[in-house]
This record gives sequence, C-alpha cells and structure tokens, in this order.
Amino acid sequence: MLLLRGGLVVDPSIGFEGEADVLIGDGTARIVSQPPEGVATRDVSGCWIVPGLVDLRAHLREPGEEPKEDLASGLAAAAAGGFTTVCAMPGTRPVNDNPAVTEALLGRAATLRGARLLPFGCITEGMRGETLTEMAGLRAAGAVGVTDDHRPIDDTGLLRRALEYAHTFGLLLMQHCEDRGLSRGAQVHEGAVACRLGLAGAPREAEEAAVARDLRVAALTGAPLHIAHVSSGGTVALLADAKARGVAVTADVTPHHLSFTDEAVRGFDTNAKVLPPLREAQDREALRAGLQDGTLDCVATDHAPHTPLDKRRAFDAAAPGVVGLELAVPSLLALVREGTLSRQRWVEASAMAPARLVGLTPGLASGDVAVIDPDFEWTVSEQTLRSKSHNTPLLGRRVRGAARLTFVGGEAVFDREESGP
Ligand SMILES: [Zn+2]
Repeated sequence: MLLLRGGLVVDPSIGFEGEADVLIGDGTARIVSQPPEGVATRDVSGCWIVPGLVDLRAHLREPGEEPKEDLASGLAAAAAGGFTTVCAMPGTRPVNDNPAVTEALLGRAATLRGARLLPFGCITEGMRGETLTEMAGLRAAGAVGVTDDHRPIDDTGLLRRALEYAHTFGLLLMQHCEDRGLSRGAQVHEGAVACRLGLAGAPREAEEAAVARDLRVAALTGAPLHIAHVSSGGTVALLADAKARGVAVTADVTPHHLSFTDEAVRGFDTNAKVLPPLREAQDREALRAGLQDGTLDCVATDHAPHTPLDKRRAFDAAAPGVVGLELAVPSLLALVREGTLSRQRWVEASAMAPARLVGLTPGLASGDVAVIDPDFEWTVSEQTLRSKSHNTPLLGRRVRGAARLTFVGGEAVFDREESGP
C-alpha cells in the first residue's frame, strides 16, 4: 500500500475535485481522511492525482518493426507518459487480423512492466479492404476494437457491413477518414505553405468528404463509429451536426494537431510530416474549441515511432508520423495553462472518455491512476524519451508537465524518482 499525500485529486467518476490523500494498493485507490498507521507515504503536493490516461491509438510496431518500437519500450513509454492503457493499432507485420496475433500480443504484454495493452484487430483480412475479418474470434481473443489502421475502408457497402458486424460483437470501429482520390500524392496540407515549398497537398475536403460519407453510413446502421485523428475544422462542424441528429459517433484529436500548424513543415522538417497533415491556424483553433466543448470526445496520440532511417530522407520519401506517448501530457497541459482547455475537460478527454469507449470503468477505484506534475520541466531528447524513436518536432525543446507516478490496477508501473527524468 502507498499513501499519496497532498495532491489535488480530480476524479470525475465520483464527482470529486480537491486536495486529498489517496491510498493505493490491493487493486484499487481511494480517498482517505484517516490514513492508516505505518503505511509508506509519498508527498505529491503540487501534483494532480487523476484516473490513468488511456490512448485509443498507438503504433507499437511489434511484431515486425521492432527497431522502431516494441511492446516493452512502447508500454514503458506509455507509463512514463501517464497512460495506464494503450490501444495498439493492428498495422504491424504481420497485421493483427486474426486471434493468434491478438493472443500473442496479449501474452507478451502480460510479462512486461508498463501500461496495459488492449489490441485492435483489423476490419478486413490483410487490411486489403475486401473481406471482413472474423471479428467474433478477435473479440474472444481480447481485441477491443477494429480498424484498418491508416487505411480507410473505401467501399461504402463494406463499411456498412463492418459497422454492423463490429457492433454485434461489441467492438469499437475506428476509421481513418480519407478520400484517397483527393489526397493522392499529398505530402502536406494543401495551402500556402505547400505552395511555397512546392509540395503536393491534401485539401481539408479529403478528410471532410470521407467523414461526411462515414457519418451517413453510421446513421444508416445505427452502429457506433469512431473517427480517428480529426485534423480539419470542417470535420468538427460535421461532427457537431451529426451528434445533434443523434448519430452514435465519437472522435479523437492528436496532441500534435492541437499544437502545430503546417508552418511546422517549413524548412522541410520531416518530423512534422504526419497523416493526416498538420493544417492551418483556423483548423487548430476549431480543434481546440471542439475538444473543449466535447464535439471531439478524446485525445489519442497516434504515436507513430520511426527510425532516423525513415525520417532523414527527402520530404516525399520520409515516413509520416510522430511519437506521442510521452508528449501528450505536456502538449495538453500547455493548453490548460493557456486557458483554451479546462482541467476537467483534459481529464475527461484523456482518461474518462477513451476508457469508456474500450469498455473500461475509469476512476481512481479501478486502481488505474496517474500522478501528474504540471510544473515538471524537462527537455525532449533521445536521452529523456523512453520510446525507441524520437521523431517529433518537439525534439530539443523544453516542455512542462509529466507523469511522476503511474499505477495500473493499484500497482506502480512507473516512478520517475527511481527511473530519473
Ligand atoms: Zn490514420
């Protein structure tokens, strides 16, 4: 048992926000007014004690691309980022389109110290967009959702059946929305920056057209749909409209789309090359407003580790994606400090909403707890990141905010005091 003393507790599951002592262990955590005698104590004054963060979308690269990341480094990086649960995307090598891969992932994760792993399976066999996977088997093996990862389901009839099938088995269907005809050849967002750099761009409409279609299909089926990594302000408006009509849609936004605009790719910085691309200031403002008002339900990192070999290339040959597991907290807390995001919405969007979407019951009582130091300053570097990869435009920058302690089911899986900054 460990007593956390002097922290600010924010636990929406019991409607509590205030300074309190928290006793953690035996698979749970609870507020105590009379701490028991003789229990180990940690002073966490100045820190926030919150339900563990949940990442709906991370690429952990195992099996097949372990030089970029593996389950050990990915789950450790997640725990260091305050995450107690990470959903692994199925676009590995081989892809996770059958129960054997799902079971192997869960078996390996069970031996590792770090965040809890919840795998997503594929929507279609081989992520080829043709034949639906055996979702019942994926579910039985422990998958919590399905997605074809960075590949949208282009075939509208197939998407309809996939939504119905996933719903039947209680799997969250997550879709990367992109009209691949409109985005063909694109390297960045289509706008003034793309023009100046002479790079092909994808217009907002490449996302919005796909989102509009998917919302119609979701409404047709009545099945829940989750839209990944919203990048365009127009998508926020489409979501608000669909939600007002009662469509069962949820959506997430990444820390990098909330933080950067396409100005970050000036100078051809391949660390700012992401999919969907970083867009303009008006989009970033709309994403921030949508996250604050709940149109965007949650934050997901879309953690996409790449080696220097994948990134130190000509812009059009560089792999898209950034690491995010350890940068979500400082990126989001910057918005909280600015006043564009309330602390309550940060907790709701980073912990509560994503947990519920994958069938967890969030709250301190689950024993999944993060102790966040909002004032901890650190430099993002190859030395400080636990991830095997360091592809982020924040590399070398000073940031503020980090997890100090992370608990999964009442067990400490990360302690900054023992592992250093
Ligand atoms: Zn994607």
